[in-house]
Amino acid sequence: MLAYGGAYAFFAILCGVGAGLIGKNRGQSFWLWFTVALILPILGNVAAALSRNENDEPRRQCPKCKVVTVAYAAKCMKCGEELAFPTDDEVLPSVNELRMLRESGQA
Ligand SMILES: [Zn+2]
Repeated sequence: MLAYGGAYAFFAILCGVGAGLIGKNRGQSFWLWFTVALILPILGNVAAALSRNENDEPRRQCPKCKVVTVAYAAKCMKCGEELAFPTDDEVLPSVNELRMLRESGQA
């Protein structure tokens, strides 16, 4: 039984690291997904793989406190300002779009 427990713990930690790396790659917390997959191995990994990629989301800036948040946010996470749906010139490129522009030498 003890050997089985050890093997399971090893397996859970492996799943945790895998899910954490997926999450980190998507602009989310490594430790959040590590914990989820440690508690729910496989399921946590699937959830991490299906989670929204924050780095692909267009962003906008809060007109009040200037904090940059995702474009679909209805409320500023920092100051609580209600945010109307952004107009085209308020939308900022996503993290990945900026990275691609930088790598191709256009920005
Ligand atoms: Zn704000």
